[in-house]
Amino acid sequence: MKCKKCGRKAVVNLKAYGISLCEKCYPEFYKNLVKRSIKRFRILNQHERVLVAVSGGKDSSAMAAVLKELGYDIELLYIDLGIGDYSKVSEKVVKDLSKNLGVKLNVVRLRDYGFTVDDVARRMRRKTCSACGTAKRYIMNRFARENSFEVVATGHTAEDVVSFYIKNVAGGTKVWAEKLMPRNDPFDEKIVARAKPLFEMSEKENMLYVLIETIPYTPMECPHAPEPEWKEIVYEIERRKPGFVKNFVRGLVRPAEEFEEIRYCKICGEVASGEICAFCRLKEKLTG
Ligand code: SF4
Ligand code: ZN
Repeated sequence: MKCKKCGRKAVVNLKAYGISLCEKCYPEFYKNLVKRSIKRFRILNQHERVLVAVSGGKDSSAMAAVLKELGYDIELLYIDLGIGDYSKVSEKVVKDLSKNLGVKLNVVRLRDYGFTVDDVARRMRRKTCSACGTAKRYIMNRFARENSFEVVATGHTAEDVVSFYIKNVAGGTKVWAEKLMPRNDPFDEKIVARAKPLFEMSEKENMLYVLIETIPYTPMECPHAPEPEWKEIVYEIERRKPGFVKNFVRGLVRPAEEFEEIRYCKICGEVASGEICAFCRLKEKLTG
């Protein structure tokens, strides 16, 4: 297997793109993908102050590193949720990350608000992740606003977006559109914009980037994390249909952009996506 760009020995094979790359060419390829995605979906503006939420995991570490590489004005935010050893290990990793990138790290401790996620887990077991999510969103927004950041970036991946969508649709729940968007701009002055710069990137791509660029991260998982059933379904579909995850997330965002303007068919007057509706085009072909 040879690198498609330079012909050296390839170390990665990206089925979604049908391309193999070497250790030297992969980081450049990844950086360009993120750059294009940010531009295409208007996820960040180059002049914004970005608060990058890091957890110590591969995805948020990859995000911090690539945003720094792309020249964004960033600082890191680590929220100490008070989850036993997991929080201790993660904090050490994000400190290394901050040093490694030469980017300021801010730490906020949930304990300072009077409780921890471990307390939540003891008291309301099944709701741990949803309570933890509430605490994280609250702290991210408040810290960002009080420290004049214009946007908070989180390390959500394409798999996160797709599995969230499928899980909710399959469960009959109304899908919360905000969670699926690459960027949410504020509806109130107390809210800071939120962005997902890696929204088109897969976990595997992020992992390869942190490994090749030796960016600090921990493979440790939160002990309260639920079984990743839906994620596993998404991985399985991707395995059988390479490119599925990327097409899916793009498809979720595209309709809003494409159908802004309503048009009518020049021939019959029905709603059309172009000058002539699909039915009249078909009819022309078969009868004309
Ligand atoms: Fe919080 Fe759940 Fe994530 Fe653990 S797995 S950090 S409890 S949201
Ligand atoms: Zn190469």
